Amino acid sequence: MMELEKLNFVEPVEGIEAFSTTRGQVDGRNPYSSVNLCDYVGDDALRVLDARLTLAMQLGVDLDDLVMPRQTHSCRVAVIDERFRTLDIDKQEAAHEGVDALVTKLQGLVIGVNTADCVPIVLADVRAGVIAVAHAGWRGTVGRIGEAVLKEMVRQGASPGRIQASMGPSICQECFEVGDEVVEAFDKACFDLGAIVKRNAVTGKAHIDLRAANRAVLAAAGVPVVNIAMSQHCSRCDHDRFFSARRLGIDSGRTFTAIYKQQ
Ligand SMILES: [Zn+2]
Repeated sequence: MMELEKLNFVEPVEGIEAFSTTRGQVDGRNPYSSVNLCDYVGDDALRVLDARLTLAMQLGVDLDDLVMPRQTHSCRVAVIDERFRTLDIDKQEAAHEGVDALVTKLQGLVIGVNTADCVPIVLADVRAGVIAVAHAGWRGTVGRIGEAVLKEMVRQGASPGRIQASMGPSICQECFEVGDEVVEAFDKACFDLGAIVKRNAVTGKAHIDLRAANRAVLAAAGVPVVNIAMSQHCSRCDHDRFFSARRLGIDSGRTFTAIYKQQ
């Protein structure tokens, strides 16, 4: 069994579940241990497959009901519908290339993203039956991936005012020291720097609150702020429980954060 961290929503989302995987029993010599589902970060392919099989079995779904894109810090959103499901595996993989958010109305389909410090966001409009997941690192946040995914959800029948959102384990502001070029990127993209940037009094370095930045993006696109939940877990502070690229290096495992409509 894999230990899953349940993601909470402000209001109940009936029939919808969301979670992040945890690392489980960690072997300090292996930055992928013990559970990593991401197949493009240098982990052993058989171990990745084994982790996916374990999770699929635990959730009571088939292996190909676990859907995750090949993320590249883009703002591209893919819709997983019946037509997508009929494509052969090569075409499905091609459609997932360079995608950082997924939207679906299908039941029993577990859509997720892989992160190590970046912010995973799950979203649901229960009434419309539309769910989504997005990966927001600083580039995706600057590019407003939250807004892109909301637009697609609306196209599928969702209404921003009804959407419940929840952010999973990700890097805290104290841990997220950045160079001034990152601050400039947020400034150019018209973010309220006063609300998301703090300077360390000793080092003078900027620290960005990525979760607050994503909350601002979602709120500006119409999601009520009171509908946005944020995990207090920091992946870097708590790197024995969640993967952290800042702590373990880029060649390390990823935390899988997913949402699904129960069958
Ligand atoms: Zn931290």
